[in-house]
Amino acid sequence: MDIVDVLRRKLGKEKVIDDPAIVSIYLREPSGLRGSNVKAVVFPESGEDVREIVKAAYEYEVYIYPQGSSTSLSGSAYPEKGGIVVSFERMNKILDVNIIDGTVTVQPGVRIDELNEFLKEYGYMFPVDPASSAVATVGGAINTGAGGMKGVKYGTMRDWVLGLELVLADSNASKIRIGCRTVKCRQGLDLTRLIVGSEGTLGLVTEAILRITPIPEQVVYILAFYERLEDLAQTVIDVKKEGITPFIAEFMEEETVQRAKKLAGVDIEARGHMLLLGVDVYREAAERMLNHLIDLAKRNKAREIHTATSTEEAYDRGLFAIRKNLFTAQVHYTRERLGEKENVMVLIEDIVVPPSRLVEAVKGLKEIAGRYGFTMMLGGHIGDGNLHPAVGYDPEDPVETRRVEEWYIEVMRLALNLGGSISAEHGIGTLKKKGLVIEAESLGSEKMIELMRGIKRVFDPKGILNPGKII
Ligand SMILES: Cc1cc2nc3c(=O)[nH]c(=O)nc-3n(C[C@H](O)[C@H](O)[C@H](O)COP(=O)(O)OP(=O)(O)OC[C@H]3O[C@@H](n4cnc5c(N)ncnc54)[C@H](O)[C@@H]3O)c2cc1C
Repeated sequence: MDIVDVLRRKLGKEKVIDDPAIVSIYLREPSGLRGSNVKAVVFPESGEDVREIVKAAYEYEVYIYPQGSSTSLSGSAYPEKGGIVVSFERMNKILDVNIIDGTVTVQPGVRIDELNEFLKEYGYMFPVDPASSAVATVGGAINTGAGGMKGVKYGTMRDWVLGLELVLADSNASKIRIGCRTVKCRQGLDLTRLIVGSEGTLGLVTEAILRITPIPEQVVYILAFYERLEDLAQTVIDVKKEGITPFIAEFMEEETVQRAKKLAGVDIEARGHMLLLGVDVYREAAERMLNHLIDLAKRNKAREIHTATSTEEAYDRGLFAIRKNLFTAQVHYTRERLGEKENVMVLIEDIVVPPSRLVEAVKGLKEIAGRYGFTMMLGGHIGDGNLHPAVGYDPEDPVETRRVEEWYIEVMRLALNLGGSISAEHGIGTLKKKGLVIEAESLGSEKMIELMRGIKRVFDPKGILNPGKII
């Protein structure tokens, strides 16, 4: 019997869709990567449904591709080699919230914005907010090890996941619980942290216990523009030197600012490189902090400075609009450049360097893009050294494809030379596999890849979970 019939019999036909028009929606990632040969998309509604799916896939040796909303930018979610897609979009319940413990328990298909909307009523938030948070799911964010704009203060998913329920790809489709409900937790080797960022290659997450934190009383923002990158970076250094920890410290390079601004349609005076700073404060201190930030920016020769004293105001006044359009600006530019082409590819890099090396990194990136003759969009999280240069190309043009792939590797080498890493938050997927090997070699730690292969074999002996990703 075919696995699709088996799954229909076990789960009911409404949970197993093989209509090609619907299946095709689950083949793609935003970069333009596209899978094929998918027999069906399966929509579990419980941990037991997930176990049935894994049991069948194990028996029939069919590949499984777990998916949240498939917004991965690294090739971690698309079904590269065919099989079945397991979409967690129907496992979207918030199961429990406990303010005293500071935890929320959720199913993996809960979207991050939905979670925050729910937590708002309690005066709490989940602070990891990838720019895709309107659709990105908790399960997807856990498995990419996602970060976001607030990373400078709140880190990434690995800092906020306390415990997980997991279905393993063994003959029994075992369901296990790892981690705790408490911040302090020693359970031998830290399997919870191993799963965070494992990109669906080790197990299927069916429940997660997350930490939550109070919504700050007030936040203040400045959006400032600079002629010289050094002055912009100096502002961030000065802010840090004064012991202020911004929860947002974003940057965008001047040409990208103009393209993203046009796309965002905001009426903001914006000349030069852009810095967006957000700081949370007690209400009484808001005005003093805002004036202080303005002063620091001015001392470092900022030209235009725009301000807001709440996140709502910042959004209303368009302070986020330019930064949020980095990836879209490259997609638009590439579509314009390539005219009628149906399929375009956009590679967005995700390197990280120590924040003290950021100016060198930006100059290096501009030099590399110039040498290749690429129009690159460039911005990122200046507070934690995470940069997202992006270029687009025609995947049907072999010469252009090869040159972009070379650029991609050269950018990763730049990060390594500056003491950084090839990926901060998007993960490895298929796109950064070569980069991971280069990073391991640069550390003299080729053994790292061997260890990862060994771990993969222990968790997934038949190699059916998201094959071909990471290693
Ligand atoms: C416009 C845009 C902006 C973005 N901004 C950011 C950003 O600021 N920061 C950032 O870190 N990322 C960003 N991303 C990347 C991506 O959106 C995030 O990593 C997001 O968390 C992925 O969520 P998802 O639900 O789409 O997961 P998917 O893309 O569906 O999956 C991601 C990975 O998780 C696995 N997976 C999903 N669910 C499960 C499960 N239940 N069990 C096991 N494995 C599972 C998948 O197999 C895959 O390997 C951005 C993407 C876009 C398109």
